[in-house]
Amino acid sequence: MEEMRYCLECGLSFAPNNHRQKFCSPQCHARFYGRKRRLKRKEQGLCPQCGGPMDWPVRIGSGKRTKGSKISYCSKCREMFKTRYGKNAEG
Ligand SMILES: [Zn+2]
Ligand SMILES: [Zn+2]
Repeated sequence: MEEMRYCLECGLSFAPNNHRQKFCSPQCHARFYGRKRRLKRKEQGLCPQCGGPMDWPVRIGSGKRTKGSKISYCSKCREMFKTRYGKNAEG
């Protein structure tokens, strides 16, 4: 009888190849740790994309902290997104 586990990232059940496996696929593994890494960078006030310093003027709301504010990137990464995704990447 096979042991089933639930992927920590997407929640799908899967049959692990070894007892340490926590994700159904390498994609889920990468996504999970990628998100963790970005969160850590954000906490440190660094660009979540490249980990570099935030040289972009960060807008801070008038006194109040808004929950769920958008992740912003450094100017380099913003330029990179712009050129990669074109005009549709606005926002
Ligand atoms: Zn998964
Ligand atoms: Zn960056």
